[in-house]
Amino acid sequence: MTTRADVAIVGGGIGGAVAALGFGREGRRVVVIERGLEPRLNGADVLKPAGIKVLVKYGLLDLLLERGARKRTKLRIYHDRELVDELNYADDPSLLFFVLIPYRTLLTTVLEILGTMKNVEIRYGTGIRSIEPRGSTIERMHLTSDEVVEASVFVGADGVRSVMREHLGIQVERETYEQKMYFGKFPMVPSVEEVNRLYVDSKKGLAYFYPVGHDFFRAVLAFPEVEGRTLRAAADPEPLRRRLKEFVSESDDAVAAVDNLDVFDEIPIGRMHAPAYGAGNVALLGDSIHNVHPITGQGMNMSIEDAGALVEHVERFFTDGVPISDCVAGYFKERSPINRAVVAYGHNMATSFHDRELFSSTLNLRIQASSRDLPLLEQVGAREK
Ligand SMILES: Cc1cc2nc3c(=O)[nH]c(=O)nc-3n(C[C@H](O)[C@H](O)[C@H](O)COP(=O)(O)OP(=O)(O)OC[C@H]3O[C@@H](n4cnc5c(N)ncnc54)[C@H](O)[C@@H]3O)c2cc1C
Repeated sequence: MTTRADVAIVGGGIGGAVAALGFGREGRRVVVIERGLEPRLNGADVLKPAGIKVLVKYGLLDLLLERGARKRTKLRIYHDRELVDELNYADDPSLLFFVLIPYRTLLTTVLEILGTMKNVEIRYGTGIRSIEPRGSTIERMHLTSDEVVEASVFVGADGVRSVMREHLGIQVERETYEQKMYFGKFPMVPSVEEVNRLYVDSKKGLAYFYPVGHDFFRAVLAFPEVEGRTLRAAADPEPLRRRLKEFVSESDDAVAAVDNLDVFDEIPIGRMHAPAYGAGNVALLGDSIHNVHPITGQGMNMSIEDAGALVEHVERFFTDGVPISDCVAGYFKERSPINRAVVAYGHNMATSFHDRELFSSTLNLRIQASSRDLPLLEQVGAREK
């Protein structure tokens, strides 16, 4: 069977789903190819103003709030138990608030809307068997399900180990951090209900506590790999709680609520920024072109922002006949300085825990809050170690 689409998107994570929504709303015929048998419902749950802006444009914010997303305004940041800074989004009219929403709720809401759109189809449980190029463009794809997909534009939203990026021959260097991230969910406690708190310590520990819904809070922890392994092997939660008490000062109830580290999901973390975001009629977005340290809380936002920007640029091909390679180049020109700087900022933050002064001077509340002020980003990006 051959399917003919305007846009074929490889990858049905949040980036691919939002791109499908954007192109779908423009009336394009879209096919999404997702190799998982069903959506993967595990991911970040912090939406910052830059990502929220795209969701507002697609009319999603009110619906997400109805479904339990929570607006918050404040984040307190601590180093070795002491408060370093407080970020209040409400102080800046261009920011106002951020949103916490379980990734599962966000992705299923977008997928539900896609399910009502006659011009968008999603194929689960199928990957790419081969890609048929013509010159610098892709003409068609052969899927493992034996289907053939022909499209005017192909989008690689296929995550860290992107086959689309590989097909284009875009070489990336991914640095894996020594720390691992641990992701857990526990019954709500008053200190988390009060305000979001992010703690780091000079021994490279990190603990971030925030609400997911009204009944639970998320504990995102990070430790150097060897320490994490030891804590995961412990028979009870006491060693983890003792370690957290070394640098967590105002969240005793959250520390008392966390369970053994082995009930947390363990996630490797790294940094990467691709030198190109596509070629010909192929564009890449999200984790296929950048990975950022989770202390920025912006990985998912960057995927959503990429998707919004890509739709705008590629629409010029469909509506004004602008050559598709120019649209892809315009998309790269817009998104690359932002993504590169945020990845660099996350790296500078992640490598400054050992020294309070360095940590405080690296912390930039506007970048942390997802400001997209280009001169500021460039200044911060230029300080990359
Ligand atoms: C538990 C967890 C917690 C996280 N917490 C944070 C955080 O606190 N802060 C932060 O910044 N980031 C965090 N992240 C990362 C963040 O969720 C990602 O940056 C974001 O979801 C990336 O979205 P994406 O759509 O670009 O890629 P992905 O979500 O990786 O989606 C890619 C999709 O493509 C599919 N795919 C891959 N290859 C193929 C193929 N060949 N054919 C078809 N389909 C394919 C995959 O199955 C997947 O569904 C977290 C991630 C996880 C898992």
